[in-house]
Amino acid sequence: MRTIVIGAGAIGLSSAYYLRKSGVDVTIIDPSSPGSKASSHNAGWVVPSMSAPVPAPGMMGQALRWMLRRDSPLYVTPTLSPQFLRFMALMLRNCTTARFEAGLKVLSDLSAETLQAFDDLAADGVQFESHADPLTMLFRDRKKLEAHALELTTVAERIPGFSWRVLDSSDIARELPQVAGGLAGGLESIGDRSLDPASFTEGLADACRREGVEFRLGQPASLRQENGSAVSVVVGEDLLRADRIVVAAGVWTNQVLAGIREHVAVQAGKGYGYDLPLQPDGPTHPLYLAEAKVAITPLQKSVRIAGTMGFGGIDERIDSVRAGGILSSLPAYFTAWPDMSKKPQPWTGLRPMTPDGLPIIGPLPRQPNVLVATGHAMLGVSLAPPTGRLIAEMATGQVPARHRASLAADRF
Ligand SMILES: Cc1cc2nc3c(=O)[nH]c(=O)nc-3n(C[C@H](O)[C@H](O)[C@H](O)COP(=O)(O)OP(=O)(O)OC[C@H]3O[C@@H](n4cnc5c(N)ncnc54)[C@H](O)[C@@H]3O)c2cc1C
Repeated sequence: MRTIVIGAGAIGLSSAYYLRKSGVDVTIIDPSSPGSKASSHNAGWVVPSMSAPVPAPGMMGQALRWMLRRDSPLYVTPTLSPQFLRFMALMLRNCTTARFEAGLKVLSDLSAETLQAFDDLAADGVQFESHADPLTMLFRDRKKLEAHALELTTVAERIPGFSWRVLDSSDIARELPQVAGGLAGGLESIGDRSLDPASFTEGLADACRREGVEFRLGQPASLRQENGSAVSVVVGEDLLRADRIVVAAGVWTNQVLAGIREHVAVQAGKGYGYDLPLQPDGPTHPLYLAEAKVAITPLQKSVRIAGTMGFGGIDERIDSVRAGGILSSLPAYFTAWPDMSKKPQPWTGLRPMTPDGLPIIGPLPRQPNVLVATGHAMLGVSLAPPTGRLIAEMATGQVPARHRASLAADRF
């Protein structure tokens, strides 16, 4: 069987890897180098503990309240595109407690196997920088801490080996000397991981090559279908045929699907980040600044900070005021860190978002040989291995019943 995977981000690479392991001939296509988009521009967290869907009660109200702040962590730049307006209306409909809780369960179940899957990848020779330190969420607002503790209770029921504890202000002062006083408290989750995302996509790409996956880099792919024949893939002058096509092109998925007049409910959620030099008094394990929505990940060679969620179409330009909001949130949480004498340069990444916060993993109803794997929002690194496995199972006809309806492409 031959499969073409379109998009070599974490999701496409993971799909290619598990497809190849199932004995399938795989070609993967990307106009850029593997992992060069959101899959290397993220916080690198593998976090079953953060299995919450983005649409949550109060989320849209918060976005509207912050709309006039040029450096807010969450914003919507409205456009009149009917697809954008429909997406936002659908997302609003998903911001209820019932839908949030249902989504939390689906994402926790998907996440349940992810840590073992990362261990299996490492055991199989996929090389990447990984850390198992506990993750601490810091809260200025007590109510937010209590709400998040409830989420962790749900997650802990579903994720094997996962636990968490509350830190009061004296625990924080003792255990996190670089953190400022006056916070409401913290939540420490034990069982999450963090990794250097660029090393992960590089490791996956190397493993795919070793296993015999063919890479076609440097040109975009599009889909074509003539006179009711099977869908084929166009790359430059070449027309490629395959038994299955997996579209894993992140926020560009609809550009690929446009060739066969298909569309899935995906919009870009823009994020920013910085890589700061290591400092002796800097954080030593991952921290989440809950109100500022900023993730901090100490890596071997730098400390990565990432955040911001902006809905405003596919736009990879850097808005330095927006990105700078991440830096200006830090003094409220830290006494002296970081040293800002050398101004760091921001980077950006576009997360593929869906209206209900769950990924789309499955066939197109009118084109069952075309599978879509996208919409992983803030969890595309965490969920790359389980997604790759699901895609391999679907493509090879071992149809897993679990999650099918809640992840289906036509559920909106
Ligand atoms: C600031 C930030 C922090 C984040 N933190 C985390 C985190 O801590 N943990 C986590 O799990 N997730 C995190 N994420 C989310 C995660 O980065 C994404 O969900 C994930 O990278 C999506 O992967 P992808 O493979 O779907 O998309 P991408 O990485 O965008 O890959 C899509 C690929 O498709 C290619 N492509 C585009 N058009 C075509 C075409 N026509 N033909 C062929 N290929 C094409 C692109 O070049 C690209 O390589 C974060 C994201 C951001 C922005």
